[in-house]
Amino acid sequence: MRRREFIQAVTAAAAAYGIPCAHGEQNKEGIVAAVPWYRRTYRWAQTNITEIDPARYDIAWWRQHWERTQIQGVIINAGGIFAYYPSKFPLHYRPAALGDRDLYGELAHAAHEDDLVVLARMDSNRAHEAFYQASYPDWFAVDASGKPYRAGELYVSCINGPYYEQYLPDVLREIIERSHPEGITDNSWSGLGRDNICYCRHCARRFRERTGKPLPQKHDWSDPAYREWIQWSYARRLEIWDLNNRVTKAAGGADCLWLGMNSGSISGQSRSFRDYKEICARTEIIMLDHQSRSDSEGFQHNALTGKLIHGLLGWDKLIPESMPMYQMGRPTFRLASKPEPEARMWMLAGFAGGIQPWWHHISAYHEDRRMYRTAEPVLRWHRANEQYLVNRRPVANVGVVWSQRNTDFYGRDNADELVEQPWRGFTQALIRARIPYLPVHVDHIEREAANLAVLILPHLAAMSDEQVRAVQRFAERGGAVIATGETSLCNEWGDPRPDFALAVLFGVRGGKPRHRPGDRRGGGTQHTYLRLTPELRGRVYGPKAGNEPPITAERHPVLAGFDETDILPFGGTLSPLTVSEKAKVLLTFIPSFPMFPPETAWMREPRTSIPGLILNESGRGHIVYLPADIDRRFAVDNLPDHGDLLANLVRWAARGNLPLKVTGRGLIDCEIYQQPGRMILHVVNLTSAGTWRAPVHELIPVGPFQVRVHPPQGMQPKTLKMLVSRENKGTIAENGWIQFEIKSILDHEVVVLES
Ligand SMILES: [Zn+2]
Repeated sequence: MRRREFIQAVTAAAAAYGIPCAHGEQNKEGIVAAVPWYRRTYRWAQTNITEIDPARYDIAWWRQHWERTQIQGVIINAGGIFAYYPSKFPLHYRPAALGDRDLYGELAHAAHEDDLVVLARMDSNRAHEAFYQASYPDWFAVDASGKPYRAGELYVSCINGPYYEQYLPDVLREIIERSHPEGITDNSWSGLGRDNICYCRHCARRFRERTGKPLPQKHDWSDPAYREWIQWSYARRLEIWDLNNRVTKAAGGADCLWLGMNSGSISGQSRSFRDYKEICARTEIIMLDHQSRSDSEGFQHNALTGKLIHGLLGWDKLIPESMPMYQMGRPTFRLASKPEPEARMWMLAGFAGGIQPWWHHISAYHEDRRMYRTAEPVLRWHRANEQYLVNRRPVANVGVVWSQRNTDFYGRDNADELVEQPWRGFTQALIRARIPYLPVHVDHIEREAANLAVLILPHLAAMSDEQVRAVQRFAERGGAVIATGETSLCNEWGDPRPDFALAVLFGVRGGKPRHRPGDRRGGGTQHTYLRLTPELRGRVYGPKAGNEPPITAERHPVLAGFDETDILPFGGTLSPLTVSEKAKVLLTFIPSFPMFPPETAWMREPRTSIPGLILNESGRGHIVYLPADIDRRFAVDNLPDHGDLLANLVRWAARGNLPLKVTGRGLIDCEIYQQPGRMILHVVNLTSAGTWRAPVHELIPVGPFQVRVHPPQGMQPKTLKMLVSRENKGTIAENGWIQFEIKSILDHEVVVLES
């Protein structure tokens, strides 16, 4: 960015924070001091340096690529596994091609000359053979037999030893003194993952000092010592975070931040002992290393991730995300271009969740040069529209509750099935129904309550008493609650409670965990069904047996759309519960019966009293308890009935109080935000088979969509502009709703409504 643009951007950022700028000649340094780099650096770049790059790094070309792509910050490899500068530490490994050259320093200098923010990149948790052999074997992690943990050729450094306590701080100080980067990132900072226990003398001593116990001998979630090891391991990563920040701030000033990197996956954070809530409480910016999607999550996972992290970090802060221009994911080809539609959609879906772009190449030289074309148009669009893409607050009033502790102590070694599938199924049902939602951390329910009409708890099994009380208070104040499966059936350690802690709210008694926490359920989808009540088939087109139940009442609105069926496919299994007299049971369980041979496919037990769906309408807020794991089933089996049922439950619970209605065909992700006097609606087009099988090959346009938006109290938008199709028009208001049409969407559209 050139100086004039830089000052414009800084002035805009200052205005967004209500920071007055001097009239007349802008004082660049003064404004920079008012708006720190971590609040105004919206677009980032990273060229990950390979060992042979020092001989061929075309710095002049990359500088012009920085400018073409409108980036404001760069992440440059400095030290760690590899040093790209002449380090004074003899064991700090330098690639042969580097010689005595200071490639990192040259790049940092060039970036600073171009008014770019520089983050020095470390990769700290591994070291080469020579480092290990030369001097400090007890700086490295070892197994119970004393054998070092290896990652390929490299040795894994121990997070409790002098490598992290002394050596890395010295390296950080050296880098900061040489080149004055604005901060430090670290690709792999949190040490050995959860799957391995380090038995080095530092770990043994520290664990005994903290707990009075020897290190656990095996992974046993029911062993108190193992549980303490989990907690102690989390605490140590936070100590490292704080230590590194003390070091960088002492060496480089108060804004010289140490930022590590963090994942977009909660179970990934769990396996690395990174407590997302605590990390977000102590940082000004999250550098997000979340480079690809799974087929089961789709592009929409990037918007979800942005919203989840902003919920912890605050919506005034930034979340740049490493967005690979190379084929990252399944499969990975480091030197081949990621197909352009795949790379573009991942970036655009991230913008919808408040994520900022950061293009990422592996190596500084490529024979597949298509990858150099991908970022420019997306980042230029981002530059032109950046005022609408940061410093905004979400408008959604449906909260989906999550907790890393539930992933740890309920999910244990099977978090995907127990925790993530229900979460994925419910959030996907909301996206499909165009119902805007927000991830809400279970400890933030009280904080967010005023903005929420509905709270969804998808299999939130492990809950503390205080977390249970927060849900109860939300309901007492008139909020609607939808809970599924084993929600509140365990305490914060994942140990079973005698009954649901939320039994009274749910209107049931007799809850028992079907499986021990962490256990695999196995068996896949079972041949089970749910019976709808009342049954209507006596009046529906089809053969009659003469014993059809008389039609005694109309169906409840949560069963809308199922008028021609008395059963729904289920796939899970259910146990008896005692249901309160005030509660309504609208679905009951039909147990499994044979599928093969087809002659045997008839119901052995056509009806039971085992409840599958329970509604409570007698309190202030609507309360839904869904014993059937329809959320997990939707993630696994993708049956439209399951998605429709979940959406019906949310609409009913919200009593129609949802801020967005969109009609028109296609799978789209809708995210709404507000700024003072302004609403911003993102619509991301997910309509492609490629959403469910990466990489997407081509984009397929969808539309038209009829959109109705309900502005927040006091806002009366008069004009409308579309930031992608560049259409401008006035708005039509009716009964408090703003109505408009989006004619066609290829990749995404962003609609700005202004007063
Ligand atoms: Zn250790």
